[in-house]
Amino acid sequence: MPYDPDNIFAKILRGEIPCHKVFEDEAVLSFMDIMPRSPGHLLVIPKVPARNLLDIAPDDLAALIRRVQRIALAAKEALGAEGITLQQFSEAAGGQEVFHLHFHILPRWEAQRMTPHPAPRGDMAVLAEQAARIRAVLGQ
Ligand code: 5GP
Repeated sequence: MPYDPDNIFAKILRGEIPCHKVFEDEAVLSFMDIMPRSPGHLLVIPKVPARNLLDIAPDDLAALIRRVQRIALAAKEALGAEGITLQQFSEAAGGQEVFHLHFHILPRWEAQRMTPHPAPRGDMAVLAEQAARIRAVLGQ
């Protein structure tokens, strides 16, 4: 399947749809997931137009995963998480719903289960506050 430039994350990258931004550089954009399955659930997407893990160039994937680790560490520190769950779904059969490659970073705590999919829409004020705390750790 070809990359669809009108997918929702492409629109976020172009600034046509707002997001609670956590991090941005020349290679990636990171922002809070609008339906968080754990407190601080965020997404990291490449700026290159990749549909998912199966079509991104290896060098672009390497640049992306380096940022994923950095942002995961910052989210863990900012929110006092005990662990991180990393998720990535490729193609509908793999669970993908938005067809621009993204990694989910889910801060986790021993005593707290993940909210089952589909989670309710997050409180915008809470998402904004969590994004600000993670941005502060990242120096953004
Ligand atoms: P996936 O494609 O990995 O199955 O899931 C897509 C993810 O994107 C879901 O966790 C969903 O909550 C999130 N999502 C869908 N639409 C939006 C949006 O407009 N803004 C943000 N921030 N997240 C979104």
